Formats: sequence, C-alpha cells, structure tokens
Amino acid sequence: MSSQPRADVNNNGLKAINTVEKNNRTSSENDNSITDAMWGRVCKRFTDEFGVQALTSWVQQLCFKGLEGTSVELTAPTKFVRDWIQRHYAPRLKDFFQAENPRIQSLNIRISTGQQPNINSNIVSSAPSQNQNPNANTKDTTEAIAEGSAIDPRYNFNNFVVGKSNELAYAAAKRIAESKEVPFNPLFLHGGVGLGKTHLMHAIAWETKRNNPDSRVVYVSAEKFMYEFISALRFKDTHAFKQKFRNVDLLMVDDVQFIANKESTQEEFFHTFNALMDNRCQVIITADRSPTDLEGIEDRIVSRLGWGLVADIHPTDYELRFGILQSKAEQATPHVNIDPEVLEFLARRITSNVRELEGALNRVMAYATLIGRPITMDMTREVLQDLIRANDRKLTIDEIQRAVAEYYNLRLSEMLSQRRARNIARPRQVAMYLSKQMTPRSLPEIGRRFGGRDHTTVMHAVRKIEDLRRDDSGLEDDITRLMRRLEN
Ligand code: ADP
Ligand code: MG
Repeated sequence: MSSQPRADVNNNGLKAINTVEKNNRTSSENDNSITDAMWGRVCKRFTDEFGVQALTSWVQQLCFKGLEGTSVELTAPTKFVRDWIQRHYAPRLKDFFQAENPRIQSLNIRISTGQQPNINSNIVSSAPSQNQNPNANTKDTTEAIAEGSAIDPRYNFNNFVVGKSNELAYAAAKRIAESKEVPFNPLFLHGGVGLGKTHLMHAIAWETKRNNPDSRVVYVSAEKFMYEFISALRFKDTHAFKQKFRNVDLLMVDDVQFIANKESTQEEFFHTFNALMDNRCQVIITADRSPTDLEGIEDRIVSRLGWGLVADIHPTDYELRFGILQSKAEQATPHVNIDPEVLEFLARRITSNVRELEGALNRVMAYATLIGRPITMDMTREVLQDLIRANDRKLTIDEIQRAVAEYYNLRLSEMLSQRRARNIARPRQVAMYLSKQMTPRSLPEIGRRFGGRDHTTVMHAVRKIEDLRRDDSGLEDDITRLMRRLEN
C-alpha cells in the first residue's frame, strides 16, 4: 500500500539525492560531510525500495539534522508529513540508518515550523484557468480598478454557486453589474465569515467593467480605506484622497465593521458616501452583520446604510455545499478523479464556512496530484484527520464500543470482559484502536474504559491493528465500515 511505482531510479534517484544533500548542507548547522553522505546513502536505499516518488513526496521533505547519541534527529515541515512518514516509512528508514551505523536505535522526527510546508498549501487553487476568467482583457481591468485594491479574477459570477441562502445577494449583485441605472443604493450585503461577500464584490467589479469598460470602479476594504485616509492626513493630501474615492461610478467598501469606533475614518467615510449618493453613484457595502447590529458606528451612518437594499447571506445548507464542491472539483487544474462519495462526505462534515470547505478540498486535491492517485474516501480521511475532528460532533468511547460489539455480534459485556478468545480479543483491539483514532482520549483513559486495562495494553492494541490494517484486507474493510458508521 505504501510503496510507490518505481521510477527511473538510476537517473532520477541520483539527481533527487543530490538535491537532498545540498538542502541538507545549507539548512543544517553542522556542515558535516560524513553525515551528509550517510543521509545520501539512506535516501538511495530508500529510493531502491520505495521508488523515487516516495522519496520526493515524503522523505525529501525531511531535514536531516545529525545524530544525537543513538538517535537520528530529523525535522518535518508539518505534523501531517511527520505522521505520514512515521506511519509508513519510519521502520524502514531506521533500518537504512542502522545499516550505516549499527549503534543507531531510533528516529526522532520533530516538527519544524521554520521549514516550508509543501503538502498542505493550496497549490491547486492558485492558478485560475484562462477560460474561467470572464474578462479577456485582464490587464486593463486590473489597472483600471487598481485605484482601490486589485481584483481577483478567480472570483466571478460563473463560479459563484447559488442556493437558497445566497440567492437574494446574488440577484442583487448581478443586477448592479448589469444595469446602467442605479437599481438600489446603497446595496448592503451582510453575512458570516467565508460566505462569499468578497467573492460577490469582485464578481461585480469584473462584470461591471466588462459591460461598461469606461466606468470607474473602486473596490477597497474598509481597513485599506482607513489607512489611506490616515496617510492622506499625515501627508496633508486629503484632496487627492477625496478625488480618488469620490470621483467614481461604483465604490465598494468591504468589511465596513472594521471602521466601528474609528471616529475620524467614519466621518470621512460618511462624507464620501453622501457625496456619491448625491451624485447617484452606486455604493456597495459589506459587513459581517446587519446595519442595525453594527456597534460603534454612528446612528446617522447606520440609518443611511439601510436606505437601499439590505441582503443577507445565510449559512450554507448541504445542497449548496455539495454544489460548491462539485464546481470547484470541475474547475480544478490539473483535473483529478474524485470519488463522488468524497464530495458528499465533505459537504456533510465541513459545515463551518465555504472557505474551510474549499480549503479541505484543495488539501485533498493537492495531495492526490502530488502522489498521482485518484481521491478516495480513505485518502480524504487520512489527509483531513485534524479538520474532520475539529468539525466533529463528539464521539464517545461508549458509542465506539457499542458499534464495534454490534458489528462483530458480541455482547458489550463480553467485549469489556477479561476473556482472551481471539473472536473477542480482536474486536476489543479494534474498539481500542478506534477510540484512540476517533476520540481525544488518552491511552490510560481508554484502558480504564475497557474493563480497567493498563495503558500498555491499549498501546499494544493500537500498534497491532495499525500493522494488521496494512496486510489484512478483511480487517481493513471492517475498520473502514466501522469508521464510516461512527462518523455518520
Ligand atoms: P466572505 O468575504 O464572506 O468572508 P469570501 O467571499 O472570501 O467570504 O468567500 C470565501 C471563499 O469561499 C472564497 O474562496 C469564495 O470563492 C468561496 N465561496 C463562498 N461562497 C461561494 C459560492 N456560493 N460559490 C462558490 N464559492 C464560494
Ligand atoms: Mg470578505
């Protein structure tokens, strides 16, 4: 399961190893050529056994720090990489080190935050494909809008998925972008974090410029508005500041809650706002709450903010989350195969906000692209362990014990008893393993809950099942089914 397809080890392998040695030398404080060479040979052995892909995907992310007594000291960029290597490659890596130096007893992989993480970054979402961009003339538009802040071409109407929770906001945004008349002024969009407010604003900017290339569109976060205002005051250049924000056809100010309690900025914002409204220029404002819930913003401003159309974006429902995932998966470049069950699973489990949902999908896609395999449920669980757990309802040891007993047709009392018959002991180990994997409980706590057993018994069970999962496909199936059952 863990071994990768063998690549051209002689050529690529050596090249890869050279890189390792070089990286190691620059990042390691002790420029010790003996240990460098040793690391190179360990990598060579590793490549011979696991292939060059496993080397570049995993082991090359490690940084070899040297020997501490009988322990090999390594660092990994993230917990995920560390755990993966520990689970899949650590025993063999230790063997390879031992072949170099028989005194070596253990590997110690620490997490080094200074190291660049390579796996969990959103590499998939970073480059939009050309055809996603509704505006062929990217450069011009960006320049024209650069007065405020740059507009992100990834945020457009084509890839905004509409559902019940955001249909009013979407319709209002579309309407403004399409019409020359001012339909309602201002438009006030509000909703929780990560629900698409900024996305809609950028989409409006693109679409407006496309329909009307001469229009002057400015998008700015309330924070940036404030900083520009403060520096204008400092450099005694408020005239230019006023020109910039008042001489526009469409002004969008994002996250206006930011200027709550910032009195002089509010004052200036209010004047800008009034000037634009008087000239029948369109204004769009977003905030994380409704106008009346904005505290620390003057009443006269609040009341004016509510003059036009106030549209709120509600939290997403399952259908919308599923739709968003589907759309993101379709747009992904390069294309990856995703088991539809994975999308369902993510839409059901990650309910907090769209940003987190997207982040989860990106992580799995990045990972799958890296190791060149389609996205399966198992891979998803593995990659998103931490996130899934954070979004989890709390699973108890009791529930796990019941589910496992039921699955193996045992009575709960039998499973918790001291009997050692295999048909009882193995399910018990499975239940201990699942308790360790799926709850935050410690080994001693789990031991206590299994008829007062010692923590070493639990540890043994966890290791045993981990090993068996790799070789015994029947057991692997049982565990997958049980996990699925417990997660739902
Ligand atoms: P907000 O500004 O409300 O905090 P964002 O506009 O930054 O949220 O959205 C967070 C992420 O979620 C962005 O990447 C955005 O593209 C995505 N997103 C939110 N809602 C949708 C949607 N309905 N369809 C597609 N993507 C969405
Ligand atoms: Mg935002």
